[in-house]
Amino acid sequence: MKVDQSVIKDINRRKIMSLLRRKKKMTKSELGKAINVSLPTVISNVNELIEIGVLKEAGVASSTGGRRPTIVEFVKDAKYSIGVDFQIGKIRFVLINMNYEIICDRLIEFDILRDMDKMMEDVKCEIDEMLKIMNIDSSRIIGMGISLPGTVNEKEKILEFAANLKVDNINFTKYEKLFDFPIYVENESNAAAIAEYKIGVCHNRNDMVYISINEGIGAGIISRNKVYKGYNKRAGELGHMIIVKDGAVCVCGDKGCWNAYISERALLELYCKKSGKSVASVRAFFEMYDRKDETAIKVLDEYIEFLCAGLKNIILIFDPRYIVLGGDMANYAGRFIETVKVRTFNEEKLFSEKDVRIVVSEVGMNASVMGAAIIPLNLFMEVEKVY
Ligand SMILES: [Zn+2]
Repeated sequence: MKVDQSVIKDINRRKIMSLLRRKKKMTKSELGKAINVSLPTVISNVNELIEIGVLKEAGVASSTGGRRPTIVEFVKDAKYSIGVDFQIGKIRFVLINMNYEIICDRLIEFDILRDMDKMMEDVKCEIDEMLKIMNIDSSRIIGMGISLPGTVNEKEKILEFAANLKVDNINFTKYEKLFDFPIYVENESNAAAIAEYKIGVCHNRNDMVYISINEGIGAGIISRNKVYKGYNKRAGELGHMIIVKDGAVCVCGDKGCWNAYISERALLELYCKKSGKSVASVRAFFEMYDRKDETAIKVLDEYIEFLCAGLKNIILIFDPRYIVLGGDMANYAGRFIETVKVRTFNEEKLFSEKDVRIVVSEVGMNASVMGAAIIPLNLFMEVEKVY
């Protein structure tokens, strides 16, 4: 079989960038040994990466005899990427460097009924402004990832349907002409899963299911280093798995969906049903819980039962190494995560706590926008492409 030299070269360059990103500085001969290629191959690749600014020479190491070896350093601010996150009524922006660190963070609010063409013009203005303030030329932007609250075909760059934004069938390729860099689109929960996988609680550990609990439920699945999308790009609608036959009515119109039991709205409605009093927010609910309000304690207990029923299903279907609980609810998870673990694994014959870890999100409310920003840089420099 003929091996394509350009493919080998591409992989070698990714290996060099990934290694130096982790180690920061290495000599060329150390690099060669670490990735198992000859010194001339390392030198040729390193020179090309120096030319595009991603690496630089950083002095010489002490000699072990013969010529003193040149040290090469990773330049984390050589290139950047932009993350854009469309949420209800607002758009968040981050500019990140090659170490996936936030350099700039901005937010604009918008009228929900405005069309996407106008919103993308606003996005363009905001990004121009951001790059001007940061004094960064657009030629140093590798790409822009856009996180969207809906069904996304990432290959065709189409937002197929987004109920919250009241839009459907938006083809983002038509907006590429507005920018000097490529656009990537992804569903918000998948983007959040990417962030947890690349910089969060699962840091590069594979086979995870991310679940965001907000007003509704979202989920993203990472399997074998990649987002698992399914045949129709709709995998991960875990909020609509049925956990109670003929149960509570869900926003989707079906009955007994997980969403109707474990969303923040479901928690507040359950409290209202049990106490006859309304509670304004999840924060207010947990304030009552912290004051040992009896109804709040009972309601959370019932909530955990439904949460665990769904988690057991997820473990049986996906056999994940990690389940990450994210979204706004993760802010309060310290109060119930241990009970969740006990009830999920207790008397369970098919799996145990050593097989799957249930953990709380580390990236928190930044997860979707960070995941979107990570996509272009991951595709540019890492060996394992997540997207
Ligand atoms: Zn549903």
